[in-house]
Formats: sequence, C-alpha cells, structure tokens
Amino acid sequence: MSSIFNLSALVRTNVLRLKPYSSARDEFKDFEQEMVFLDANENPFENGVNRYPDPQQRALKKALAEQKDVLTENILLGNGSDEVLDLIFRAFCEPKTDNIITLPPTYGMYGVLSEINAVENREVLLLENFQPEVSEVIKKIDTQSKILFICSPNNPTANAFDADKIEKMIVRFPGLVVIDEAYIDFSEKESWLARLNDFPNLIVTQTLSKAYGMAGIRLGICYASAEIIAVLNKIKPPYNVNKLTQIKAMERVLDVAGVQQEVKRILQERNILLEALKKIEFVKKIYPTDANFVLIRVDDSAKRYTQLLEKGIVTRIRSSQPLCQNTLRITIGTSAENKKLITALNQMN
Ligand SMILES: *Cc1c(COP(=O)(O)O)cnc(C)c1O
Repeated sequence: MSSIFNLSALVRTNVLRLKPYSSARDEFKDFEQEMVFLDANENPFENGVNRYPDPQQRALKKALAEQKDVLTENILLGNGSDEVLDLIFRAFCEPKTDNIITLPPTYGMYGVLSEINAVENREVLLLENFQPEVSEVIKKIDTQSKILFICSPNNPTANAFDADKIEKMIVRFPGLVVIDEAYIDFSEKESWLARLNDFPNLIVTQTLSKAYGMAGIRLGICYASAEIIAVLNKIKPPYNVNKLTQIKAMERVLDVAGVQQEVKRILQERNILLEALKKIEFVKKIYPTDANFVLIRVDDSAKRYTQLLEKGIVTRIRSSQPLCQNTLRITIGTSAENKKLITALNQMN
C-alpha cells in the first residue's frame, strides 16, 4: 500500500490550487545586516512584542528537530493540537463527501471537528479491553476515507494500543493515519515518531499541554513527511503561534531534565494512587494506564463524583462514552493533591 501512496490524490483540490497568503515576514526574512522594517505596518516602539512573530517558528522547530531527531521540514506547529487537527481536516477532507474513521471511546475533538467540517465520522468501537479491532476498521474503509485517528495512549481509557495493531492499520489504511500522542511522555511505549520515514501516510501529533506542563500557552506539534507538512503550511494562518508562546515553549523544550523530573514525579504519584484505589471497595475496575490519568469503574459514577466534589475534588465522569458506564477519569496531581484524594476516597461510603 505505502509504495503506491500518492499524497496529492488526498489533498482537496481547492487546497492544491491555493496560492497561500504571503506575509511580510515570509517575504523578507533572510537578512544579514541590521534592517529598518517598514513593511508590516507594525508600531516601531520596542516593547518585546511589537513585531509580528516568526511565521515559521524557526528557532523552536530547530530545537524540537534536534531533540526528536527529525528535520525541521517534518514539523508544523499550531495553536494547540486542536488547531493542528483542524488544519488536517481542512487540507484533506472535502465537506459532505469524505469521511474519517475514529475509534471510540476516544478524544472528543475528532468528532467535533468532523461535524464542524461537515465530514462523516465513521466510528469503530474499541474492544472490551480498549484495543482496536483492526478487521472492523478495515471494513469501514471506502474510497472517500481520508483520515484514521488513533489516540495512543488513548483518552479517556488511558491505555496505549498494541504496536502491531497500529502498524497493521497504518499499512492497510489508504488515507492518512494520525496518531495522537498527547500522553506519550507518560508511556513506556515507543513514540511512532521513530517510524515516520517508514510510512508516507503517517502523521504524529504531540503537545506541550500535558507532560511539558504548558497547557496555557497552546502549542501543538505535528510531525509528518515534508510533503504533508508543506500542504498544511499552505493553509495555516500566517502567525498562528504567537511570540510569547514561542519564547515560553523554547525555554521549556530546552529544559529536558526539568520535564523528565516532573514526569517521574507524576508517575510515582500514579503508582501511589493505583495502590490506594485497589483497596477501595466501590472501585470495581482500574484500567491499565500509560498516561497521567486513570480511568476507573465504580459502583455509581454520579454518586461518587458528587461525593468527591463535596470534598473539593473535581474529577471527570466518562459514563456517557461507549464501554465506559460508571467510569471516572482522574488526573494525577501533586503529592499533596493525591493525598487529599486518597483520604477522601477512604472516607466515602
Ligand atoms: C489533552 C489532549 C490533547 C491536547 O490538546 P492541545 O490542544 O494541544 O491542548 C490532544 N489530544 C488528546 C487526546 C488530549 O487528551
């Protein structure tokens, strides 16, 4: 399949034909000497942010490329993964014609974006063990199937999917396969980034919102072939990642040890919580986790949710999702927050 992969056949014709907007900073960027910039109608008085940001975020991409062992041409940055995912829809999915495939219970944004973009969402439920049923996914494919969304580690189930199943889907799916790795830094499984060059239809998305502790700055990362990235670059808003975000992200990306240390602490707390949950009578099932949260099945999710709220602890009910009756999703907090949670759980009856 991959040997006959033809990207331009997947791109919407209006996008193929599009002449992208060219910003002032795109047109004049490679300069040696000090220049006077009178080209973008900016306010000339320096305050740190009076100039438009680099539309290609070159410094940040360079740091990420070195760290992740990819080329800068393999990276697109966005205003959170949500913008990245939306760009993928708009580049490849023809409204009212094409379809995507998702594997619920999973991240809600894929479905929401499919509705916004008027693209059919073909859902293939995960199995009881929250692994994908590859043969059922294959059955749903037709000539209009453009994107398969795989969230691994998956939200809200917390597990990573088996690598051999993911690989089968990448090989068999004729369109693009997006692997959403928002939680990869909490998992022992290897990132699919290492396989980018093996599969021309693979897109890996990551984010600074979870392990990197920067949900507030909104930075999503898309890794794919240079050809796919070029298509997305064509349609992205010129200044989609603001200057403050680029600066903050850069500091954090360079602080490898700091990020690792926090991930380690979160994983330690996760173990403590998992042990405590095993002893709680109303917790009926603790699902395996590769993420910074756990999904548990309880006797009565509405009751337990409310009891926790009364003790000042907010969790997320996931019961409305398929296969998730009576479940709560609990994020791993600090040691103090975790203690408070465990004390509360022990007091509830
Ligand atoms: C939290 C999360 C994201 C992050 O989205 P951002 O827009 O980058 O904050 C992406 N995918 C999944 C599955 C998530 O749970």
